[in-house]
Amino acid sequence: MKKLLSLILALVMVITLSSCDSFLPLKLDIVLDEVKLRVHFIDVGQGDSILLESKGEFVLVDAGEKEYGETVLDYINRCCADRLKYMVATHPHTDHIGGLRTVLDGIDTESFITVETDQDTSTWKKLLKAVDDNDVNYIDAVPGKSYRFGEAKFTILAPLGDNYEGYNNYSVVMMVQCGDIRFLLTGDAEKESEKEMLGSGMDLSADVLKCGHHGSSTSSTAPFLKAVNPFYAIISCGKDNDYGHPHPGTVKKLTLMGCNILRTDTMGTIVASTDGKHLSFSTERGSTQLPTYGTDTEKKNAGDALNYIGNKNSGVFHYAKCQGVEMMNEKNKVPFDTREEAIKAGYKPCELCNP
Ligand SMILES: [Zn+2]
Ligand SMILES: [Zn+2]
Repeated sequence: MKKLLSLILALVMVITLSSCDSFLPLKLDIVLDEVKLRVHFIDVGQGDSILLESKGEFVLVDAGEKEYGETVLDYINRCCADRLKYMVATHPHTDHIGGLRTVLDGIDTESFITVETDQDTSTWKKLLKAVDDNDVNYIDAVPGKSYRFGEAKFTILAPLGDNYEGYNNYSVVMMVQCGDIRFLLTGDAEKESEKEMLGSGMDLSADVLKCGHHGSSTSSTAPFLKAVNPFYAIISCGKDNDYGHPHPGTVKKLTLMGCNILRTDTMGTIVASTDGKHLSFSTERGSTQLPTYGTDTEKKNAGDALNYIGNKNSGVFHYAKCQGVEMMNEKNKVPFDTREEAIKAGYKPCELCNP
């Protein structure tokens, strides 16, 4: 029966693919009256590629390694895009920008947004040359700037600094908004950039978080996750990748927060659709058809799960939602605002929740 079902599903996909409608979200449009924004987290193995689509206008954020250029271009074409309003290169690592040149050469692109670094690899230089050769408008990413497409917009939040080690923290971080629904796309931004965003006092809350740096432990710090307080987290990474992404600690934190985790390595391409009030997901692989999420769905203070509680008796500190805390005697509980504070007070991190 399951086999038959997947056969039918595959058939429906093929039929939908050949028509010029959006193809992956098979049941979504039944749930949502009107889709105002679709965010496609395209499976490009170990890398990132995200296509934003609103009312016939398209924005591409990264395109995975070079060998995925055709895959991404193909995908864009199948979404019936005749041009890209914006192409964003988050930062000059090949798992993000490798495929962009193929896309640039294959589809009309209005503007190219990136952040200047001292990167001078041939891949990067060739990409910038292609931007030039194709008469694409070059825009330097400046935090605070917003760009509209269809009925949605994105605002650049980071990088806020200009002197980082390595390129990940230079990542262009974007808040994509459509009505009440917000997506936070962080590229490979790591804890330094997260800290700066937190320090700036900007509103980081989002319904969907594309986790920084493929779910690595260098990103998704507890204070950042608390501020974003996402209901869904997307991790874009390759199956059995060499880096061990995502880090179990990241998955643990998101799980403690009650966050729904969606991964491209296990689910393939993930598509989120919204009417500006509700969110619906569909995935290429697996049976994940998450319930439609509305803004009234309870997600208040999920971040509290990541508060720190120490045990006076054992000298161990935990995340508030760790099983270790459930069993703890009330009078032994000591709250801490930060991990550093707990360590300073001589507490050791719990081995189970690894705070
Ligand atoms: Zn990177
Ligand atoms: Zn990366």
